[in-house]
Amino acid sequence: MIKLSRYSIGEEELNAIKNVFNDGYLGMGKFVMQFEKELESFFDNKTHIAAVNTGTSALHLAIQACGIGNGDEVLIPSITYVASFQATSATGATPVACDVEMTTGCICVKDAETRITKNTKAIMHVHYAGNLGNRDAIFALAAKYNLRVIEDAAHSFGSTHQGKRIGGSGDITCFSFDGIKNITCGEGGAVVSSDKNITDKVRDLRLLAVQKDTENRFAGKRTWDFDVTDQGWRYHMSNINAAIGLEQLKKIEGFSKTRRTLAKAYVKGLQGIPVQLLDIDLDNVVSHIYPILVANGQRNALREFLMERGIETGIHYKPNHLLTKYAATNCPNADYFGESLVSLPIHVGLTEDDIANVCGCIAEFYTR
Ligand SMILES: *Cc1c(COP(=O)(O)O)cnc(C)c1O
Repeated sequence: MIKLSRYSIGEEELNAIKNVFNDGYLGMGKFVMQFEKELESFFDNKTHIAAVNTGTSALHLAIQACGIGNGDEVLIPSITYVASFQATSATGATPVACDVEMTTGCICVKDAETRITKNTKAIMHVHYAGNLGNRDAIFALAAKYNLRVIEDAAHSFGSTHQGKRIGGSGDITCFSFDGIKNITCGEGGAVVSSDKNITDKVRDLRLLAVQKDTENRFAGKRTWDFDVTDQGWRYHMSNINAAIGLEQLKKIEGFSKTRRTLAKAYVKGLQGIPVQLLDIDLDNVVSHIYPILVANGQRNALREFLMERGIETGIHYKPNHLLTKYAATNCPNADYFGESLVSLPIHVGLTEDDIANVCGCIAEFYTR
């Protein structure tokens, strides 16, 4: 069985968890502080970090920290995990589904501009399959209408752009470290920003908005006398999850190399087969998923054909504008993605031979 996605975790992570047990504190303490420090240096110490319990929480708190809530609107590409939409509506703001570009699956800037109203406060740029789409145009649109840019970089931890790591530039970037992402904490997430006001706010909000609780805990001086002025959440990261993340972070170069090799093997192996590949800059992207587009209503038949041959596939994603809660119209490209997408297996446990096998089966599907 070739699985769609899978973590790569071992003795190092197990020993790290034992260290937390022996240290005596499982909650948010020195391992989380260390994880944030290591992440800061990963981004060349040019950004501030707040680690949280999931990628969804990272998005929720990032939006809240911008002061966005009831009555506000956030532009989001329809093709993303429902987490992007749920994190937004959790703040009271309205997620506005936008169409995507046919070549990358990223937000279509032209379409997004038509959906701007006086209530629009931010644009969420989802790095779909690691793609950056027309990132410069997204930032130009944001500048024109005075919008915050929140990047959902759940798919692009370890990727680079113009020589800089994703997260090392821009406005606010959110990562996920859930069980199958490019690195995992078991579950986890992070808000990364050059704007310290944002990460300071997130640090309070993740601990029930108890002011300066993070700083006091990290200093080993937790205080029971505090003030609260905002609605907060229990979204902090635990020492156990941070300890796993610290070990995974040491392995990111190897993980990146393997994922890149596998994605390039797909490009080579799918040559001449009538499926559409997305435009991905595989010299800079670390592929978390590998989606292709299958035309003419053949998607489900291909998925079944592959499953019969022990190959698991996925659909990333059902368009959010087709969900009752987030219904929107006029997203023709997202509609096409919704009926044509297939994600092929990619994870660091696979080899180039596995990819050749998958491509061989797809070729067989088209010549059967
Ligand atoms: C995984 C993911 C999230 C949510 O992250 P969790 O850690 O699972 O909460 C958000 N957006 C996208 C695009 C994702 O793939």
